[in-house]
Amino acid sequence: MTASDASHPILLSPPHMTGDERRFVEDAFRTNWIAPLGPNVDAFEREMSAQLGDMHCCATSSGTAAIHLALIMLGVRPGDTVLCSSFTFVATANPIRQLGAEPVFIDSDDASWNMSPAALRRALETLRAEGRTVRACVTVDLYGQGCDYAAIAPICAEFGVPILEDAAEALGATVHGRPCGTFGRMAILSFNGNKIITTSGGGMLVSADRTLTDHARFLATQARDPAPHYEHSVSGFNYRLSNICAGVGRGQLMTLADRVARRREIFARYSAALVSLPGVAFMPEPTWSRSTRWLTALTLDPRRAHCTRDALMAALAADRIESRPTWKPMHQQPLFAGTRMFAHDPARAPVCERLFAEGVCLPSGSSMSDADLERVISVARAALAPAAAPSSTRTHEPSPAR
Ligand SMILES: *Cc1c(COP(=O)(O)O)cnc(C)c1O
Repeated sequence: MTASDASHPILLSPPHMTGDERRFVEDAFRTNWIAPLGPNVDAFEREMSAQLGDMHCCATSSGTAAIHLALIMLGVRPGDTVLCSSFTFVATANPIRQLGAEPVFIDSDDASWNMSPAALRRALETLRAEGRTVRACVTVDLYGQGCDYAAIAPICAEFGVPILEDAAEALGATVHGRPCGTFGRMAILSFNGNKIITTSGGGMLVSADRTLTDHARFLATQARDPAPHYEHSVSGFNYRLSNICAGVGRGQLMTLADRVARRREIFARYSAALVSLPGVAFMPEPTWSRSTRWLTALTLDPRRAHCTRDALMAALAADRIESRPTWKPMHQQPLFAGTRMFAHDPARAPVCERLFAEGVCLPSGSSMSDADLERVISVARAALAPAAAPSSTRTHEPSPAR
């Protein structure tokens, strides 16, 4: 009996530790490598390189720091334009502004919820006609799903604009069988506490071009020139990952395949239990995509669903279940008021505005028990089932056909 057992809170995406992390952390203590460099950092970079299929990696103190470094290395300067997915977390866009450049936001498409190739092409054509310098295109692989790179990469290549892939949410995902984190001139990963694997806080800059990751490492360690004394000719940062945190990451990375499998299983169970309810639709997975389902995201069509997104969230919260609205698009943020946004279809409202208005993320942590998963489903079904039917009978119906 788990249906209304509200004895403990269920979190959206808590860290999932195995215990194996301790071995690497204890190594750091034993050898006194308590610093933002050391053997765990080197090994974590090597192991991530192998995971992604022979990429080069530079571990950083956060995913945001990696975005900042990548934009600097792409030459982003005051007055430049940088294209960026609108449907994302603010960390994707903040460094653009902080470098004095202007973000121009790109809508999502319905098929992937990620950057719309049609909107991207229109933006690039418009900005070229206006004579603007587009220095980079920041794509975002949202909720564990990669972008339509088979369409996006050729468009960016045609216009000579490099891609920076924000794969913070998509480690372990593939697009046409190729890992997320390998699609841009550079890519970034995040190991924040809520991501699919964590270092408590941390990130990674990834590139096929070793000169870029080497330069990132130089900039991230205060840009110290080779000399016996402290010599500096450019301005650097303190952006490297701690050897202790990297030890956590090494233990976590060993479990990645299991973490992906469990998150996908959680998505499949939610989907089987809820998708037949009126107005409920889950984030689609195009045939070319294998999402990690980092977070299970769904939308409630206000014309058909039996409750609103906010009412569903309130029902879950009353049972101590954490949920979260989908990301509020950047072009709708007060921070970016007045910035331009290119819609997927200029004749319609932007896709990402609807995805925000109707979207919610359900608890998706890989450590969630089956009993907790059923508890979330039971509360969600009660809120979403047609009002006339008592929720107690609803929850005992067999799972709807797929
Ligand atoms: C988490 C996240 C980031 C930032 O990563 P941090 O490691 O928290 O700095 C950037 N972009 C997206 C899409 C994210 O989800």
